[in-house]
Amino acid sequence: MSGPRYRFAPSPTGFFHVGGARTALWNWALAQSQGGTFVLRIEDTDEARNRPEWTQGIIDALAWLGINRDDPHFEGPYFQSEYAQQHIDAALRLFEQGDAYYCDMTSADVEARNKAEGNQGYQGWSRDRGLGPGPGHVLRFRVPQGSTVVHDLVRGEVVFDNAIIEDFVLLRGNGSPMFLLANVVDDMTMGISHVVRAEEHLPNTPKQQMMWTALGHEPPVWAHVPVLVNEARKKLSKRRDKVALEMYRDEGYLAPAMINYLMTLGWAPKGGEEIQPWDRMQADFRLEDVNHSSAFFDLKKLAAFNGEYIRAMSPEQFLEACRPWLFAADAPFPADRFDEQVFLALAPVVQPRCATLADAAGVIDFMFLAEPVFDADAWAKATGTPESVAVFRSVLAAYESLADWSVEPLKAVVDAAAEAHGLKAGKAQAPVRVAITGRSVGPPLFEALALLGRDETLRRMRTAEATLG
Ligand code: GLU
Repeated sequence: MSGPRYRFAPSPTGFFHVGGARTALWNWALAQSQGGTFVLRIEDTDEARNRPEWTQGIIDALAWLGINRDDPHFEGPYFQSEYAQQHIDAALRLFEQGDAYYCDMTSADVEARNKAEGNQGYQGWSRDRGLGPGPGHVLRFRVPQGSTVVHDLVRGEVVFDNAIIEDFVLLRGNGSPMFLLANVVDDMTMGISHVVRAEEHLPNTPKQQMMWTALGHEPPVWAHVPVLVNEARKKLSKRRDKVALEMYRDEGYLAPAMINYLMTLGWAPKGGEEIQPWDRMQADFRLEDVNHSSAFFDLKKLAAFNGEYIRAMSPEQFLEACRPWLFAADAPFPADRFDEQVFLALAPVVQPRCATLADAAGVIDFMFLAEPVFDADAWAKATGTPESVAVFRSVLAAYESLADWSVEPLKAVVDAAAEAHGLKAGKAQAPVRVAITGRSVGPPLFEALALLGRDETLRRMRTAEATLG
């Protein structure tokens, strides 16, 4: 595939972060809409922190987001650890050109000298010592004088004074390449034209741009995207906040809802309508329209997005999507009491009551339990007045002889009893609802009664009535 080459370069050091997910989606949208390529590069050079399961987690999470290895825009995954020799070769080229030099000072030496001279950072002490490679010698980049101008599609022109950038290390004393070098060399050899990544990498960018230039390449187009923050406007952190994409997936957030919401963190789809299909967002997304300020990762808004996507599903889609929770070991009812037809029939009234797929089992459990989980307080409250008890008893009596057991007549009985005893409809329904569902809130009552059937409805109402004394 010709066209621009974007990349996503995660380090497999933990769960897949929602911020990473947004960066990946934005790169994916750009690669797709511009007929370009999305390169996945796993930056796995930190042996102490990498784990293979995190790599698999990244690949699975991307697939869940629709960033698919089978798509023609996708390339990779490449593994940074396999290219160490190229990183070293590039560093040695910089040395041969005079853009890098060896230094035998340990960090303790640097510290001691700074202390003595009242300075901070590495002061270029070995620049002109003409040292060659040797045990413990680090290779440092010779930062040129002047300034470095980074053209960033999100942040505009950012100017860095080179005087405050120290001669940074390219190769460690044991000869192994440093991360910044590896990252640049890979971008270069993989022909990356656009680097779209988190804002926290911006301070590294002048150093990387100097390497690009010194190695004889035009630097890529940069775009540093704003961080995600929590309610307290603090950067999302894995200690404080729920940041793992996997957790949202496992809690019953739908991939399309998650994708849609993540896309809008720092960018607003055209026309003001935030709920949009991927194809539209993908076509409209532009880095130039991305906000500079940090983006609030609002859990309430995410739940609202998810609810919208849940409501838009057909009953059949909803059933399929809910299966993992309906049949989970900790589902609120035994699997052999579950009835698909009942679930499908109630789905349209259950869907509006679910923020996540995981909610469905709890909304509808009373249909599949031999006995509903009875909330005694709710029952006491629903039957707290003589009128409400009288309504309940007259509804029970009327239901015993109701000819047509369907929604309208079931409702008419309660409405008539309510009127006779001077109660509002909601108050009149409350004791029936608690008797049947065990709770004071739930899906529309009469749909549930119609499906539950006369025998079971009467049995539950009689059992509840017996407690009234
Ligand atoms: N591997 C780096 C990270 O996960 C990404 C660096 C980059 O995108 O350039 O933070």
